[in-house]
Amino acid sequence: MKLSGDDRHVLLVLFGPPGSGKGTQAEMLASRMGFVHYSTGEVFRAQISKRSPLGIKVEGYVVSGGLVPDEIVLEVVEDFVRANHHNSIVFDGFPRTVAQAEGLDELLKRCGLELTLAVLIDLDDDEVVRRLTSRWQCRSCSKIYNLTFSPPKKEGVCDKCGGELYQRRDDQEETIRGRLEIYKRQTSPLIDYYEQQGKMVRLDGRLGRDRVFQELTSLIAQK
Ligand code: AMP
Repeated sequence: MKLSGDDRHVLLVLFGPPGSGKGTQAEMLASRMGFVHYSTGEVFRAQISKRSPLGIKVEGYVVSGGLVPDEIVLEVVEDFVRANHHNSIVFDGFPRTVAQAEGLDELLKRCGLELTLAVLIDLDDDEVVRRLTSRWQCRSCSKIYNLTFSPPKKEGVCDKCGGELYQRRDDQEETIRGRLEIYKRQTSPLIDYYEQQGKMVRLDGRLGRDRVFQELTSLIAQK
C-alpha cells in the first residue's frame, strides 16, 4: 500500500518511551508507504549543528534531555504542517505534552485537517534500559551496534573501520532513567487525551520491528 497526496491523507502521531522503536517505524512508513517523517528531535539537532537562532535557543534543553518549551515546538511544527498539508505525515516525538497535542489539534483544524490516529508503542522500563544500554557506537564512523542483536565481531572494536566503540552519554543507565521519568510525567498523559478522542491505539514494542510494522500498516489500512 502506498499513500499519495491525491489519494487521502493519513496523519499519524507515534509516541512511546525512548528506545521503543518509534523512529524506526516512522522511517519505514516513510520509505515504504510515502509518509513524510517529521521528527522534532531531528529538526532541533540539525538547527543546533547549524548554529541557527532556533538551534541556539533550544540547545540547552536538548543537551540536558529536558523538553523544549511548548510555544517554541508549536511554532516550528506550524511552519512544517503548512508546507506539508497535502501529504500523509507521521509525527515522531511530537506531541510530547498535552499542551502540544491541543496545539496540534487547533493547528490542524485551522488547516482543514484532522489527526487520524495516535499510536503508542509501549515498552516496560527494564526493556527500555536493556535496549538502550546495549547500544554502542563507533567513534570514527558512527556505525551503531546492539550488543544483543547485532554485536561487533570483536568486543569494543568496529567491524567496519576498526574504530573504538563507545556508549553515548544519553544511553547510560542513569540518563535513561531520567528520560523515562520525563516521559511518564509529561508524555504519558497523552494516552488519556487521545483515548477521549477515540483515536488511541497501543502496540506492544516487544513484538519487534517487523511485527509492529505489520500491525501499524493494518491499522492504517482500516482507516
Ligand atoms: P528525540 O530525538 O525525539 O529523542 O528528541 C531529542 C530532544 O529534543 C528531546 O530530549 C527534547 O529535548 C527535544 N525535543 C524533541 N521533540 C520535542 C517535543 N515535541 N517537545 C519538547 N522537546 C522536544
